[in-house]
Amino acid sequence: MKPLSRPQGWSNWSGTVRCEPNWCSEPVSLEEIQAEVLRAAEEGERLRVIGSGCSFAPLCWTDDNQMSLRRFTGIESADVQRSRVWVRAGTTLRHLNELLAERELALENGPSTDAPTIAGLIATGSHGSGTAFGNLASMVTGLRLVLADGSVRVCSREQQPELFDAARVSLGALGVVTHIELQCIDHYRLKVTSRRASFGETLARLTELRREHRNLELHWFPYAGVVRQRYADESREAPQPALSVATVRGLAYEQIMLRGMRTLARRSTQAAEYAGKLLAARLPTESCVLDAERAYALPRRTRVQQLEYALPLERAADILRQLERVIRALDFRVHIPIEIRFVRGDDAWLSPQYRRDSVCIALPAYGDRPYAAYFAAVTELFDRSEGRPHWGSAHDKTISDLRPLYPRLDDFCALRRQLDPHGLFLNPHIARLFGANLR
Ligand SMILES: Cc1cc2nc3c(=O)[nH]c(=O)nc-3n(C[C@H](O)[C@H](O)[C@H](O)COP(=O)(O)OP(=O)(O)OC[C@H]3O[C@@H](n4cnc5c(N)ncnc54)[C@H](O)[C@@H]3O)c2cc1C
Repeated sequence: MKPLSRPQGWSNWSGTVRCEPNWCSEPVSLEEIQAEVLRAAEEGERLRVIGSGCSFAPLCWTDDNQMSLRRFTGIESADVQRSRVWVRAGTTLRHLNELLAERELALENGPSTDAPTIAGLIATGSHGSGTAFGNLASMVTGLRLVLADGSVRVCSREQQPELFDAARVSLGALGVVTHIELQCIDHYRLKVTSRRASFGETLARLTELRREHRNLELHWFPYAGVVRQRYADESREAPQPALSVATVRGLAYEQIMLRGMRTLARRSTQAAEYAGKLLAARLPTESCVLDAERAYALPRRTRVQQLEYALPLERAADILRQLERVIRALDFRVHIPIEIRFVRGDDAWLSPQYRRDSVCIALPAYGDRPYAAYFAAVTELFDRSEGRPHWGSAHDKTISDLRPLYPRLDDFCALRRQLDPHGLFLNPHIARLFGANLR
């Protein structure tokens, strides 16, 4: 395999992280992955493995080697009896969902985009919404990794359990994950309903709503005091073959309004606030039945920067009330809905939901708006509330900020030093997170 140069450079999905790697390799086999890792290690270089580049944080930034597994995809093997599959790490969620549906299987939950790779999703602890479900890393039952010395390790709850707990959410800092074993469930359908409600009513019924529905997520328009409740429950009805005219019209209206808001926001904060209220006032109530693989991802054509934190679930209503006060005190008019989701706790050492059921609050902002003060004010509130930042979101935490939040962080860092003593898999961002020295 010959490494490919990238003369035009690399950029993440939001366009906020750019770099010019010296080389980008696209291995097609385990042996090629090992060979490329060994080559970079022997030459004293660095290597960052990338997925689809959907992270907002500079996780994939490097001026040295990038490795993409976009040509290392598909299901390697399936255990039909146990509904488990071994997937090659470069498979996008969209592709994986199709492959699972062909086998009458599905993942139990999913995030709001299916563009990322399965390895990128688990590496950052990405999640969907529904109090009964953990993040995607919690569906992992086995991992195969190539370490900095080129060796291959397989881990699971039974085999090298400490490595398994560390490596499930590991930001590409322990090695290149090449294969992931996932626990799936029988294929299912969901009846997805969107309903407009007031912020006050939603908070008052939050616990009830979470318990009533299999999946619940909230899209909050803070100035309008309005929330879109999007919930889903299993259904045996026939799936809707295509998007209805009303749904397509609704989506088109929302996209036009979001674009209009972006233009208005550049001119005047009041105009942006007005457009946000207008959009919130027109939210329709609608329901449709969808196959599992189509039920979670939402269309996103507007590129944004995003801050997200996982916070203690039992304090959700209180934190959201405080957030409303913080936002109202700012001159920055929040005009893209804030996403509120619910995730069950798990036991991966670096999972933002580590041993804690969580409410995850994501705040998107247009990259060309002055969002720094908005993100800073919200971060201050979330830090006070024991929040853990989403690893893929825009945050500037260092090891000393993270230590009190992650009881196993020092164990992770010790394991990282042991597995990668020369810092092959580091970049400046990863080095700050794990207190490592860049040579
Ligand atoms: C439009 C949009 C919607 C989103 N929706 C959600 C959501 O609903 N829920 C949520 O939690 N997050 C969401 N995110 C964030 C996203 O899920 C994460 O940033 C995720 O990591 C992206 O996966 P990726 O394949 O793009 O990985 P990248 O961003 O390319 O990489 C992320 C990390 O994974 C590591 N990595 C990738 N492949 C490997 C490998 N083979 N071995 C080891 N490490 C590897 C990289 O080194 C890096 O540290 C969203 C992002 C966008 C842009």
